[in-house]
Amino acid sequence: MDYPYLSAFRSQMDFCGKCGDCALAVELTTAKKHINKPCVIKNVLGFEAYDARGRILILKRLLDGTLQLNQEIIDWAYTCLLCGNCQETCLALDNGIDLPSMMEAFRRDLIENGKYSPSGKPFEILEKTLTHHNPYGEPHDQRFHFILSENFPPHADILLFVGCTAAYRQQNIALSAYKILKKANIDFTILKDEKCCGSVLLRYGFHDKVKVLAEELMEQIQKSGIKTVVFPCAGCYRTFKIDYPKLIEMPKDIKFIHFSEYLEKLVKEGKYHFRFDSQTRISYHDPCHLGRAAGVFEAPRFLINSINNANLIELETRRNYSHCCGAGGGVKSCFPEISLKVGQNRIIEAAQNNINYLVSTCPFCKTNLSQSLNGQNFKVLDLTELLSQTLDESLTGTIIQKESSFVTHELTQNYITYLSQHPEIFSDLVPGSVLEFTIYDSIDAFEDEKPPTGAFHVVRLENEIEIHPGLADNSDLQLALSEGAVRELVLSKTKKEYSLKFGAFYNDPEEEYWIDFLLHKRTKTLLKMGYGKFAEEAGILDEDEDLDSLDDRVKII
Ligand code: SF4
Ligand code: SF4
Repeated sequence: MDYPYLSAFRSQMDFCGKCGDCALAVELTTAKKHINKPCVIKNVLGFEAYDARGRILILKRLLDGTLQLNQEIIDWAYTCLLCGNCQETCLALDNGIDLPSMMEAFRRDLIENGKYSPSGKPFEILEKTLTHHNPYGEPHDQRFHFILSENFPPHADILLFVGCTAAYRQQNIALSAYKILKKANIDFTILKDEKCCGSVLLRYGFHDKVKVLAEELMEQIQKSGIKTVVFPCAGCYRTFKIDYPKLIEMPKDIKFIHFSEYLEKLVKEGKYHFRFDSQTRISYHDPCHLGRAAGVFEAPRFLINSINNANLIELETRRNYSHCCGAGGGVKSCFPEISLKVGQNRIIEAAQNNINYLVSTCPFCKTNLSQSLNGQNFKVLDLTELLSQTLDESLTGTIIQKESSFVTHELTQNYITYLSQHPEIFSDLVPGSVLEFTIYDSIDAFEDEKPPTGAFHVVRLENEIEIHPGLADNSDLQLALSEGAVRELVLSKTKKEYSLKFGAFYNDPEEEYWIDFLLHKRTKTLLKMGYGKFAEEAGILDEDEDLDSLDDRVKII
């Protein structure tokens, strides 16, 4: 048998120096990076034939004719997750030896020569996808029965491309994405006749079939006048963004963007606020398709960090060195027991972080990781679900327009605008709380009780905060801030970043950057009003600090 697609990688194979970093690395000799055994398949199956070094040896011998293809080798071809972690660790070429593309090319050669894997899964899934437009073989006319009671406009600039797994197996992800977009009044729609993007077929090697699917889908999207396609599924996103351009000519005027990237922009515009009622520990699992393949690492982390009271605890293997969840590359359908073993290892890794939630941004990762939980007492969620659950629907910010000599200063106006866009900063305060902000051009001016350069006060109401210009008659406490501190605070992207800077300016004041406060109520009263939570988050007050001790550190007047 000839291997035309695999042959294209023959010269790359010769660069393999058999160092073994792709399988065994704990620390790469040259890069000095800590990487914990990157090949998760080798980690559960044990033999070298399953890591990149072993695979390259086998593929080379097939090409050279010193090894004959047999059923065992066909089976072996579908044990690779195509996760790409081996490529990240490989230093033989600038971008590492591209083992995932080699394995995909080999599968393409097998498929085009009619070589069936013993399970027959790739062909079974091809049949289901071509007949029912989803790899699960579910009826196409029921794809959106769970969401079609909602009104979708026939035309919109934004398309939510739901994907087969969120449509048939993880519908809560689709519903959460829907809820989040609706909350910000985004004008979006879905393709009621949405069909599979062909992601899993590509991983099996059915490139010609997927080319037809891609052409049909793009024609449908272009006809609808869509300008941006948003994907909650990392697999669909990667397929549109990275694989389709290799198969068909893509329209230049349509943007393809993962849901987390789209939402990051909206959160920065102040369209959402998220909160947990108490401190919550979260680890983020980078899906291979979104992270390593498409380079999207920051947006999901930004979103988790934007949730009030969320603490992101990074996993030991993360970002481009993240261990795969075990579901990729068609392994989940061909060898479900192997997928579960890989998933269980990822869960053990996450359990070390003592977390409440393990969060990902791919319905397929969520499926496999939840099935691998094995009694661990944390939950696996998709980021859309986490955000939908923590949507703070109550707080908005309103600036009360009133003439005042205390708000003519541009910096004061910027600060007021910033706080009105981040009302979550005040979410821990009880309704009725009044907090006074005064800005000074020097510490002497504050200590000599000279008038501030700017002043306003924030009133916490039931569902909103109001920002009033000028001094307050009855504030709970007065904050005094240097102009330098304010300039830094308004650059904060999240409440956490804001509170950490706030704490640093209070705990370690400098001439230009300092914060002080005068209490107008007893400390215990203020703590009961919710001020303590912010002080804890800012590092001003330790969780177990004797509360009375705070009275010694601040002025009560
Ligand atoms: S594929 Fe790269 S990392 Fe793996 S053995 Fe070969 S040279 Fe080393
Ligand atoms: S792509 Fe992933 S599963 Fe396949 S050999 Fe490389 S590290 Fe192992």
